[in-house]
Amino acid sequence: MACHYDRVAHTSASAGALLRHVRTGRARSRADLVALTGASRNTVSAKVDQLIAANLLEEGGRGWSTGGRPPTILRFNSGAGCILAVDLGVTSVDVAVTDLSAHILATVGHPIDIADGPGPVLAEVDRLAQKVLAEAGLTPADVCAVGVGVPGPVEFSTGRPSHPPIMPGWHDFPIPSAFARYECPVYVDNDVNVMALGEIGVEGSVQDLLVVKVGTGIGCGVIVEGRVYRGAQGSAGDIGHIYVHPADGRTVVCRCGNENCLEAIAGGGALLRDAVAAGLAVESTRDVVELALRGDGSALELVRDAGRTIGTVLAALVNFFNPHRIVMTGGVAQAGAPLLAGIREAVYGRSMPLAARALEITVSDAPDRSGRVGAALMAIEEFLDEDSVQSLAR
Ligand SMILES: [Zn+2]
Repeated sequence: MACHYDRVAHTSASAGALLRHVRTGRARSRADLVALTGASRNTVSAKVDQLIAANLLEEGGRGWSTGGRPPTILRFNSGAGCILAVDLGVTSVDVAVTDLSAHILATVGHPIDIADGPGPVLAEVDRLAQKVLAEAGLTPADVCAVGVGVPGPVEFSTGRPSHPPIMPGWHDFPIPSAFARYECPVYVDNDVNVMALGEIGVEGSVQDLLVVKVGTGIGCGVIVEGRVYRGAQGSAGDIGHIYVHPADGRTVVCRCGNENCLEAIAGGGALLRDAVAAGLAVESTRDVVELALRGDGSALELVRDAGRTIGTVLAALVNFFNPHRIVMTGGVAQAGAPLLAGIREAVYGRSMPLAARALEITVSDAPDRSGRVGAALMAIEEFLDEDSVQSLAR
């Protein structure tokens, strides 16, 4: 299933837009597409024919009709190519090969040290990618797009990290160049945006969503009507450096140089610092989270306080953005109940009733998987849905 592209002009009823309606289950027939887009039956039929010829859509059986000839069912052919999904962390990398619906066909994980720099780390990624492709019985020519999530800010249009604080040596490195052998588009974004797409999942959603990662730092993926909102330069959702007032009135200098940033008060690093200061026998943020999970009173109080501080920022975001849902993820979110209790107390206490009335706040139920699935979904969304859709043909 080698991968070749034809370019088709973009309109509101572009081939990419029609394909998206079928991929996400919103349309199952040409008539559905006409109704959804307002385009003429002839326009829709011509585009659908192109997508069928490109092997991206298939015709199934007949659907139900309320009168007249029942419509022919349209189905997305998720086997028309494959995606390489890379979830790059600080101490480990996961590489997966997926179909065009982000279903994982093969996956492998390996320890790395992101501080070794792009050369050695991406060479390891390349080795793992060849391994998963072989495992899935595929070749580099089958890869239609590559999606990469990295633990730092990225200029999305170029795939270059921008002064990433925990990725020394990676500033301005063109990550897509490491995947030249696949001769296909490569999309790179920060891990939080990628995880946010993973939380929406394969079937898609038109919800407005905030996905908040509380790890060493704190970041937020902003999803508007089911799609990542990146802002002008790609840094939307960088909430870790919003100013907060600590309950005890102290002043803490953040790694960014400013005082009392959210992550300097309530991030994983801050949690560890405060736990050590409180005399707990801990060496990592994970130790603090595990103590809290075992019911240690001091650890629980620290986690709940972090939740309250994060909640004051989220309350402002709820008033501003009015999301359907907030999903918490990252190492500190594994603490679960005490963190959520602190967050809910602040959010429901400080948000306007209309915005808070139907708001759900939950912890991610598949944080490990959402990085890989999200990286695949990012690549699929961009590759099949950009200004000009790229059609695949055998
Ligand atoms: Zn800061």
